[in-house]
Amino acid sequence: MLAEIIDGRAQARLVLEQVAAGASKLPRPPGLAVIIAGDDPASHVYVRSKVRRATEVGFHTEKIQLPEDCGEARILEEVAKLNARDEIDGILVQLPLPKGVNTLRVMAAVDPAKDVDGLHALNAGMLTQGSGELIPCTPSGCMKLIKSVIPDLTGTHSVVIGASNIVGKPMAALLLAEHSTVTLCHIHTRDTQFVCRGADIIVSAVGKPGLVRGDWIKPRAVVIDVGTTRVPDGKGGFKLKGDVEFDEAVKVAGAITPVPGGVGPMTIACLMENTLTAAIARRERAEGAWPVLS
Ligand code: NAD
Repeated sequence: MLAEIIDGRAQARLVLEQVAAGASKLPRPPGLAVIIAGDDPASHVYVRSKVRRATEVGFHTEKIQLPEDCGEARILEEVAKLNARDEIDGILVQLPLPKGVNTLRVMAAVDPAKDVDGLHALNAGMLTQGSGELIPCTPSGCMKLIKSVIPDLTGTHSVVIGASNIVGKPMAALLLAEHSTVTLCHIHTRDTQFVCRGADIIVSAVGKPGLVRGDWIKPRAVVIDVGTTRVPDGKGGFKLKGDVEFDEAVKVAGAITPVPGGVGPMTIACLMENTLTAAIARRERAEGAWPVLS
């Protein structure tokens, strides 16, 4: 029997509908600002999609485009300006940043209350304590996809492949918070294949097409493919490939996300959800209902 294909596009539509409904109840539209530095074509594609979705759900959006050689000080200056503006609820600094710019320093400069990527150390720390509100968008989307097929993760064994700050580590924290036993693999893990074979859930976030083969997967396991690598499509353009060898995996897994159409749309939907959360929380805080975080 072939695996169930988890439809990220359909699930993202549901999230976006809820976000649009929530945004329409606020006295002013949530504001999302995106800073992009440099000319990375993939980053520009992602930013265009984010701005388009934000507009569709009724947000005010702004894109700040900086040249590749703008330097860290200029990026920090733009972040500071956005931090100070009341109508901006969410600030997203598109990664990767140009060479020579310290990503952690830039993330640390974003007001934690507007950190809709969930990458500020305060939000990352809160996530590990199970109290986070602004959770990194990709792991948040993956968790919704996993829970659509396994509503209760208690006692499961999850393997996350890839340990970046943006995907792997927060993914592991989210799974742990749902009472899964988590193994986090990375480039130095000795036998990732062996570890994966015991997993009820595999989340692969590496960026190596075809890394996860069919014989890595326990029968009926849930496989979430975060990897997106641009490879030539043979017609002069590009197509996206995941980390998982889909044709093999679909014959073994119980449920699997495709690439494209799996995690990608959910990442953008969760960014919109975070922006709405930030807008509501900032408003409540301004009204004195919450202690000030930043
Ligand atoms: P990264 O390069 O920061 O981290 C990659 C991780 O993989 C590292 O922890 C590294 O140790 C590990 N790794 C490398 N080779 C490995 C191997 N052979 N076995 C086990 N682990 C290995 O990457 P990232 O930013 O976390 O992104 C990972 C992938 O996910 C990329 O393809 C990226 O494009 C994709 N991505 C997709 C979305 C989406 O919305 N679909 C969002 C973010 C990232």
